[in-house]
Amino acid sequence: CGIVGVVGSRNATDILMQGLEKLEYRGYDSAGIFVTGKNKKSKLVKSVGRIETLREKIGIDVAGTTGIGHTRWATHGKPTEDNAHPHASTSGRFVLVHNGVIENFVELHNEYLTDDIFKGQTDTEIAVHLIALFVEKDGLTTLDAFKKALGLIQGSYAFALMDANEPDTIYVAKNKSPLLIGLGDGYNMVCSDAMAMIRETSEFMEIHDQELVILKNDSVLVTDYAGNKIERDSYTAELDL
Ligand code: GLU
Repeated sequence: CGIVGVVGSRNATDILMQGLEKLEYRGYDSAGIFVTGKNKKSKLVKSVGRIETLREKIGIDVAGTTGIGHTRWATHGKPTEDNAHPHASTSGRFVLVHNGVIENFVELHNEYLTDDIFKGQTDTEIAVHLIALFVEKDGLTTLDAFKKALGLIQGSYAFALMDANEPDTIYVAKNKSPLLIGLGDGYNMVCSDAMAMIRETSEFMEIHDQELVILKNDSVLVTDYAGNKIERDSYTAELDL
């Protein structure tokens, strides 16, 4: 159960895979990455079992500057490839990873989604389908759809969300699950553990519960769920590799 994301790096796949390997110690049963970039074909690859298996599946043709990765520790739904993260909306436009447990996923499913569009059995999938619904049916922006979903979701979460139409942005939010920002020169990262980012940076920024972050290669905007900007200093950590 770990998350890693990077935006604006020349080789997102390498950084994500190194991050996932560092997160292995936390325990996991499956893993996956989503990578995209300007003029790049988006690619979603998942596998049950070892990170090495995922690496073999990815091969050499997954290239991009932005992406999110996940190691899953199943809480709802068996450790299968369908249940592994990242989870994509039916359109494929929205992709997200999640750590934690969405406690009211059954209620949300019953209230908002009439068809059974779920590919797997996890609690997580409701989040990406809600966001897609709010954008594609209700016409909200991705940011507003994410905020609306966060207002409805109960439980613990660290989320990293991507919109394939915005390959230069990762939307992030957390509540009762660990997550922090790593700041780089020309790229920025998000991760559940500083140790998984220290090869790339030693400058970090905390995210508090019920905060939302819009991460781009050259900017980090932290707000509350109402959209009020929060000023937060970064800090330099001396960690041993
Ligand atoms: N509850 C989610 C699932 O079962 C996330 C688990 C995790 O934190 O890895 O897929």
